[in-house]
Amino acid sequence: MIFVNDTHNPALKSFVDSANSGSTDFPIQNLPFAVFRRAGSKEDFRCGVAIGDQVLDLTALGKMHLLSGDAAQAVQTCSDSSLNRLMSLGAPAWSALRASLSRLLSIDSPHEGVLRGCLVPQADVEYDLPARIGDYTDFYASVHHATNVGKLFRPDQPLLPNYKWVPIGYHGRSSSIGVAGQSLKRPVGQVCGAGQTVPVTQASRRLDFELEMGLFIGSSNALGTSVSVDQAFDNIFGMCLLNDWSARDIQGWEYQPLGPFLSKNFGTTISPWVVTSEALAPFRAPFVRDAADPQPLPYLTSDRNSQRGSVNIALELSLETQAMRDAGVAPQVLCNGNFKDAAYWTPQQLVAHHTVNGCNLQSGDLLGTGTLSGPTPDSLGSLLEMTEGGKKSIAMSNGQMRTFLEDGDAIVIRAFCQSDSAVRIGFGECRGTILPATT
Ligand code: MN
Repeated sequence: MIFVNDTHNPALKSFVDSANSGSTDFPIQNLPFAVFRRAGSKEDFRCGVAIGDQVLDLTALGKMHLLSGDAAQAVQTCSDSSLNRLMSLGAPAWSALRASLSRLLSIDSPHEGVLRGCLVPQADVEYDLPARIGDYTDFYASVHHATNVGKLFRPDQPLLPNYKWVPIGYHGRSSSIGVAGQSLKRPVGQVCGAGQTVPVTQASRRLDFELEMGLFIGSSNALGTSVSVDQAFDNIFGMCLLNDWSARDIQGWEYQPLGPFLSKNFGTTISPWVVTSEALAPFRAPFVRDAADPQPLPYLTSDRNSQRGSVNIALELSLETQAMRDAGVAPQVLCNGNFKDAAYWTPQQLVAHHTVNGCNLQSGDLLGTGTLSGPTPDSLGSLLEMTEGGKKSIAMSNGQMRTFLEDGDAIVIRAFCQSDSAVRIGFGECRGTILPATT
């Protein structure tokens, strides 16, 4: 089980100056993983760790044989073009590698000279997906989001009776998950307007984003076995940022009776950097369930989950229109939230629920949390909620108005963890841009 250790020591500094700035997402206390290569090169993609504004090339590090034991075994898996093999090694190996990387990158590292040769500026790299994602599940873990959306469709009964008992989810599509920086086409589909009985096929006019986080499964469980809430702390490799692009007009026509399908599976964007569960340890927060609500069933409950099951992660989502980009205007923040205020279920409860029936989660599987809307108007995670179903427009700083996304709009998600007793860590950026439909 992962607790706070030497790698989280706020006094630690790195020989990489940019890691010590206080404002970087990637101080030595973070050490998130990604898959990268030099931009525009024909190099093989391989695994790297962020330190300040640099990427530590783990293939190059592995060739130097500076590590021993579990860490040496772990770094050898990092020459792969995905993190799957590292993820499959399990928490003790991840922890051993992290401890070694922390020492090697520290300001008094005996190997600074050779390690400088393994650094690549982040400004010069391109990323691939961090893992080969075999399966992707998207949950619906914010009670505020579920209530807001429910109100639009069912004013009399916004929250269905199962919501407070079952972590609701559906199986998404992994092939259309892309890494941040991507552009994706506005989807075309069947739409049936209010009062109409015959649908038409057209480009979506109600294209939306969903501010979410992703959980990467590290250790797998065999078919027929389940993962307890306490085991799940160690099974989750880490977390990333996730944008679940959603075509609300296609969704409204297709979602009954089996849930979302083509309104969601045309694209999902995730951040390149995966912040490990161990890096998040200092930012763990209590899981609090209102006394008026049903308490979770025993398989969704543990003392550890109650004490430290949630995570204090500040979330920020911004929109940048094409005109703003052309004029050099900064993206406009539309949402400021926090994971712990939005999520009705913890990451561990999502894993325990997903496997209670014996479903086999595998290394590299991705679980989306669902739209992380908070309780306040400035912490809503979708345009559907911000515009009350498209009834209210949002004014942008340059005078443009938005109800849903227009071609050329980019959505940028950022997140960070902060506390008095730890160094601030961040998740980098998850950016995606909408291209015109091909009709
Ligand atoms: Mn979603």
